[in-house]
Amino acid sequence: MSVEPGRVPAPDGNLGRLLWAQIIASKQTVSTYTVDFRSGETVELELTQAQAEGYECLTCKAECGTGTGAFLHAGWINDFSSAFRCAACVEGDV
Ligand SMILES: [Zn+2]
Repeated sequence: MSVEPGRVPAPDGNLGRLLWAQIIASKQTVSTYTVDFRSGETVELELTQAQAEGYECLTCKAECGTGTGAFLHAGWINDFSSAFRCAACVEGDV
């Protein structure tokens, strides 16, 4: 499993997926966040709360999963949370 330490992977099972969907659905408020990327860049981005809290990919909003959906740490947001991008987006960057 290539999920970064500290990440909450999407749970398995029907109940887990239902709860996960509710969590994601409750975090769709868009605000402007200042993201300090690991590269040293600081960028202001319009993100959903789910993206800002690391539930969704910063770039494509995919939810954390496995394989190309596995998340890699991208940076920090306002010192209160970490932002992630899925492996597919990180690879697409290079
Ligand atoms: Zn992505």
